[in-house]
Amino acid sequence: MAAIKHRRTALERVEKFISDTYFTDCNLRGRLFGDRCPLASLSYFQTPRRIPYEEAVVQEFGPAQVGQSFGPTWETCWFKVELSIPSAWAGREVHFVWESDGEGMVWRDAQPVQGLTKEGEKTSYILTRSLKESEPHSLTLYVELACNGLFGAGKGSMIAPPDPDRRVTLSKAELVVFNRDVYELLVDLEILLDMAQLLGEENQRSFQALYTANQMVNVCDVMDPSTFPATRDLAAAIFSQRNGESQHTVHAMGHCHIDSAWLWPYEETIRKCARSWVTVVQLMEHNPELTFACSQAQQFEWVRRSYPGLYARIQDFVAKGQFIPVGGTWVEMDGNLPSGESMVRQFLQGQRFFQEQFGRICSEFWLPDTFGYSAQLPQLMHGCGIQRFLTQKLSWNLVNSFPHHTFFWEGIDGSQVLTHFPPGDSYGMHGRVEEVLKTVKNNKDKGRVNHSAFLFGFGDGGGGPTQKMLDRMKRMSDTDGLPRVQISTPDQLFSVLEKESSQLCTWVGELFLELHNGTYTTQAQIKKGNRECEQILHDVEVLSTLAVAQDKEFQYPASQLQQLWRLLLLNQFHDVLPGSCIQLVVEDALQYYTEIRRVGAQLQEKAVESMCRDLLQPEEGSTQSTLVLNTLSWERTEVISRPGPNGKETLGMSDLGLCDLWFSLGRVLEQNLFAFQLW
Ligand SMILES: [Zn+2]
Repeated sequence: MAAIKHRRTALERVEKFISDTYFTDCNLRGRLFGDRCPLASLSYFQTPRRIPYEEAVVQEFGPAQVGQSFGPTWETCWFKVELSIPSAWAGREVHFVWESDGEGMVWRDAQPVQGLTKEGEKTSYILTRSLKESEPHSLTLYVELACNGLFGAGKGSMIAPPDPDRRVTLSKAELVVFNRDVYELLVDLEILLDMAQLLGEENQRSFQALYTANQMVNVCDVMDPSTFPATRDLAAAIFSQRNGESQHTVHAMGHCHIDSAWLWPYEETIRKCARSWVTVVQLMEHNPELTFACSQAQQFEWVRRSYPGLYARIQDFVAKGQFIPVGGTWVEMDGNLPSGESMVRQFLQGQRFFQEQFGRICSEFWLPDTFGYSAQLPQLMHGCGIQRFLTQKLSWNLVNSFPHHTFFWEGIDGSQVLTHFPPGDSYGMHGRVEEVLKTVKNNKDKGRVNHSAFLFGFGDGGGGPTQKMLDRMKRMSDTDGLPRVQISTPDQLFSVLEKESSQLCTWVGELFLELHNGTYTTQAQIKKGNRECEQILHDVEVLSTLAVAQDKEFQYPASQLQQLWRLLLLNQFHDVLPGSCIQLVVEDALQYYTEIRRVGAQLQEKAVESMCRDLLQPEEGSTQSTLVLNTLSWERTEVISRPGPNGKETLGMSDLGLCDLWFSLGRVLEQNLFAFQLW
């Protein structure tokens, strides 16, 4: 077949040539893997706890086999994998393949090396890219398998309460030869096929792509790898035909949106971060161009504490500019419910962490998934060293389509931040032709600015980007007919947007999300806990500050306050404070509030004792004393209660004034009157 006689027939011919469903006994896809070899041995032990590697490997392991199921939900299985690579595979690329519906992590030499998650298209760990005689052919790996899926264990639907009896099945565990040359051809053909189908019949590049793909099928003999280079040359010829200067630029950045808790508890998120980020740094080792934007200081702190070896590797890639901390906040918090002070603390704790750990603060506020954005945020961002903002959640609006993708967002005091919504309406792209075309098509400001963000990678423990995503985008870097796809950074994107920003429109006021409205009324205990704890921490800080001002011996409880603030800020995560999480998370959150109340009360007491030691002594002729403090900066009249004679509660009216120091102490006497001690 030298020429295309019929478009549909030619399209189908190419489709079948790379299909993973049809003709895999004789098509190119069927040649992706070569010889296979079973594991030398597989054994496991199971635990209800999430334990460290050192504790796991000294347990007693019993036999396990492929096809076996493990559970119930939230348990962890540790597998000891002994493998022996056949010496006949010299020179070949060898993968350890592991397929299960649980979330896995490979450990090698006591270090995590690779996440394994079917939903994240990560089912193999590369043992060697070209087997040499000198390298060890026999080795032992461990696989830590969480008995939950990427999105927890919802019974019946993803967001339903978890099924406590869910089991995960180990469906594959073996060694295989991976044919890299076949893989490269498959990626070429997938891109050409997508161009042929998606650019449309009226587009000449669609015809050229299809003609080339058809020619490739002609030239390629799947049984004869010596035909592969000539086949690849055909693809390279079309990919190297470049765009004109007017073409739109898509700024691709690796990303893995990890909800700090949602359909799984906080503790599982720590492992999700490790599984995902180790996969990212592993990919960076072989792809120095890969960039990865990573938010939420809390998650960095979790990995720092629990996976110091991995954290050190991350720090190296941060220094190289590939692993890029963004956001500036402690977590990706809810954008409406936290108090203004809490919002400031999100930035304060976050930026301070990034400064201490990586030597710089973040320049971009990064909050892609929160359910609406308060109009006070632009002002707060300015105050925290940030004038750029990225989100995309408003694309979920039920009624109105937001009119911009790149614009200035103006807050209540007139502060403006340059804002960008990735026009592909997702923070989990896969680097496909369809997605880059959608990005340009959707962009409502492409007449004003010719650049869009494109965040690619599987989220929530799916391990972020894959090699395949990168390889797809390499082919689309500058190919006539497709937008330019450039691996980029948030700074590069916003820098070009800033240069072209003179004609941008301005949106004044809050960014209201027309969806998820029920999150403001559900799980009232969490909302109540948040507000009460915000007040408690405010009071501890006011009282401790006054105590230290009055008594140099008083120790300001800085580190305890930091710990309590961080707990409170964590609970402000955008699936916790809004209540869109499972019951397990609610229980954790309420426990954190109990902890803040408990320690907060102790700290308040210490500060008050230090400040008011004399006032706390009972009045003459009385055994009781009540001290009323006003920690606000205005006068108040409040009804207060205190235990009276015989343990009965009595009520009293207390006017709490304001002194020059904006603080007052009142003392309630026996007759329910009050006295002021101004100072
Ligand atoms: Zn989220």
